Amino acid sequence: MLSWLFPATCELCGEAAEQGLCETCRRSLPRIPAPVCLHCGAPTAGQQTDANRCAECAGHTRPFVLARQALRQTDEVMQLVYNFKYHRALYLSRALAGFLDELWEKTPQLASRADWVLVPVPVTRRKLYTRGYNQAGELARSLGKLRRLPVLDLLDRHETGVISQTRLSARARRLNAMRAYRTRRVRWWQRRRSYPAYIVLVDDVFTTGATARACATQLRKLPGVKEVVSLSLVRIGA
Ligand SMILES: [Zn+2]
Ligand SMILES: [Zn+2]
Repeated sequence: MLSWLFPATCELCGEAAEQGLCETCRRSLPRIPAPVCLHCGAPTAGQQTDANRCAECAGHTRPFVLARQALRQTDEVMQLVYNFKYHRALYLSRALAGFLDELWEKTPQLASRADWVLVPVPVTRRKLYTRGYNQAGELARSLGKLRRLPVLDLLDRHETGVISQTRLSARARRLNAMRAYRTRRVRWWQRRRSYPAYIVLVDDVFTTGATARACATQLRKLPGVKEVVSLSLVRIGA
């Protein structure tokens, strides 16, 4: 039972490893290096400045101050994410959160504050019931332990009547995402009439950014919220 929960081998190469990932494989997974677009995390040319925008983000306002992803999309990375998400490989949570922790250290906007609160991107109730867990929530909780930061479930995901996001056009995806996410009133914060000011939205994958934008837009409607940062494990397409 314990060996199933915490296998002593690396998910990728089969060598001995705690937490499902050996040191060699951990080091070899491709990080996304700066410079990147501040608003979506896409690699850009030139130097990392506060004005870095990719062609797609230039001229647009975004509900978050910053979006970063830790890893590029490779077969190995996607194998880990897939097993974590669909095969209950929850023992990977800490190793995967380690990549977010590493990126955090290298991101001055994040490392310079100590009062961040982590908010995971939610899944629908139905998914939570069939899968048994929310992978973004597990990532956020592991990252919270590594960085000693609180995790707050401030968002709910509603069914929008559409089976899969992947078959929709970019515009339909955006509208669908906007309808899908709602903030959750948390009694304690509600009574104070003020929610945490600095929020890091945690997710496993970042594709078009539609989900992050929808979630951040909702979070920023809560009283007291000043800044939202989107932090994800993998950038799809990078
Ligand atoms: Zn390995
Ligand atoms: Zn961009």
